[in-house]
Amino acid sequence: MVEFCLKCWNKINHSSLTENDVIISKDLDLCEECGRKTQVIVRYKCSYYFKEHFHKLLNDK
Ligand SMILES: [Zn+2]
Repeated sequence: MVEFCLKCWNKINHSSLTENDVIISKDLDLCEECGRKTQVIVRYKCSYYFKEHFHKLLNDK
């Protein structure tokens, strides 16, 4: 699974999600964008919209 840290996710999607909007991993993992070991987004707390958006991003890769 492709994983991104919150910062990169916001950069890629021009969004401004916060840690309140997403579930962040407890353990460090590799962010596919910046290549750092960091806490990555595991999933979104809310919504279908984000899920769709995320899938679209993955499929485009
Ligand atoms: Zn990153």
